[in-house]
Amino acid sequence: RRGLVWLRNDLRLNDNSALYQASTQCRELAAVFIASPGTWQNHNEGDPVVAFRIACLRELQIELEDRNIPLYFIDVPFFAQIPEVLQQIVERLKIDAIYTNAEYPLNEQRRDTAVKDLLKKDGVKVQFYSDRTLIPPGAVRTREGEPYKVFTPFKRALIQLCADSEVKTLPRPRKIPAPGSESHWPKWMSLSGGQKLSRKIPTQLPHYTIGKSDNTGFIKGWRIGEKAAQKKLKKFSSKIFSYQVERDFPALDGTSCLSPYLNSGAISIRQCIAMALSLNEGHWLGGNDGVACWISELIWRDFYTHLLVDFPRLSKGKPFKEETDQIPWSYNQDQFKRWSRGDTGVPIVDAAMRQLNETAWMHNRLRMVVASFLSKNMLIDWRWGERYFMQRLIDADFASNNGGWQWTASTGTDAAPYFRVFNPYRQSQRFDPNGSFIRKYAPELKGLSDKAIHDPPPTQGYPQVICDVGAGRKRAIEVFANLK
Ligand code: FAD
Repeated sequence: RRGLVWLRNDLRLNDNSALYQASTQCRELAAVFIASPGTWQNHNEGDPVVAFRIACLRELQIELEDRNIPLYFIDVPFFAQIPEVLQQIVERLKIDAIYTNAEYPLNEQRRDTAVKDLLKKDGVKVQFYSDRTLIPPGAVRTREGEPYKVFTPFKRALIQLCADSEVKTLPRPRKIPAPGSESHWPKWMSLSGGQKLSRKIPTQLPHYTIGKSDNTGFIKGWRIGEKAAQKKLKKFSSKIFSYQVERDFPALDGTSCLSPYLNSGAISIRQCIAMALSLNEGHWLGGNDGVACWISELIWRDFYTHLLVDFPRLSKGKPFKEETDQIPWSYNQDQFKRWSRGDTGVPIVDAAMRQLNETAWMHNRLRMVVASFLSKNMLIDWRWGERYFMQRLIDADFASNNGGWQWTASTGTDAAPYFRVFNPYRQSQRFDPNGSFIRKYAPELKGLSDKAIHDPPPTQGYPQVICDVGAGRKRAIEVFANLK
């Protein structure tokens, strides 16, 4: 059998379901990555996440070639072109079957269905694997057969399902015997429509600045690829025991920083869970508080991904709680720009937004603080914030980002109750008590005391607060309370 692995956000050699299964079922194997920069842009994916993805792909290509699996690259503007392009590739490379790991946002599902339907006509099977989440979407249901809408019972059901069987990770794919001649897998091919399938991964893509090497521009400071992800996981394993305490303090290095790797697929969810369980004598709950808490956070990722499948409206810009669409959201561009730049006059919000703009990553506690400030105190439509995060985050992931925004804006399932609005000053005092984080990203406030830095007196060079924080809170609670 001659197989083709279609890689997407699953850019690793080890524990990759589609890649592993293809290597066991096929005598000859190639891989393809199809960039779709027009669709990526429509999905608001920005330079950081795309640059990181392409850099990981470059690393993976070397590993795959070592196993005699050539990796082809092609770019088409939109998802809509993919079925036909794959059809041509299959025909020209004489492929018998395609292997790929499922993706769950609505447009990705539609793309995959279109590919499957078109290739079926040619007698080519497209085999999908559940790989991105710990358990496949739909695998757990309430007693009434409904999807879970609340996290805690979802988590309980997931653990019950998983605890019965060990969390297993797969080895790397089998090494494919070297092909006899180079023409076996051509170096490149022109496809009708002017596209070129080639083994060269470009340094330029339409709409995107992706850069050449792994340590420039947006991905500065992030090591690329699977080996780097494994090192990070290992390093975190010595800190995991204090995760429950340290994870809330942005000035500490208390979280794993694995999100860009999980999202590009440089590491798998099973590898993370297996590591955590091995440190907790196999316990999902209980045992060490730090480990149990980290496992729980990883399960949030599954929860939000599963929701996309059960509630397609989430992929259409709709709130989970549909009545919240009546809220008279503000669309004030100037105010939004000030929030984006980190120029609101609230130090913890500004420092957090500058962390995002400078490093393409933001600490989880701060994601909640800035999202709450925008959607509640400023009453700006949460979708503007969601879009800005997608454009700027190196770990931009539709499911987790949409879930995080809807949770904070109280429009989501199992969201923060609307009457509990984060007080940014109190958050600042609690989680950045001596202002170290603020001083790092808002150096103009460096000279203020630990007490004054959270809510500075009129200071030269620092803006007045953008809105009346207390009145904004009151207004948000009122508009939510009045929803029908
Ligand atoms: P750790 O604390 O080490 O957690 C380990 C992993 O668990 C993370 O890498 C992530 O995969 C998962 N995880 C942790 N917390 C959450 C959560 N609340 N929801 C879903 N998964 C979680 N995460 C993204 O990966 N991409 C996003 O685009 C994204 N946008 C967010 C937007 C908002 C408004 C909020 C409140 C949260 C968002 N998150 C997002 C979730 C969370 O903030 C990040 O996953 C986390 O900060 C990444 O850092 P870490 O890898 O050090 O996490």
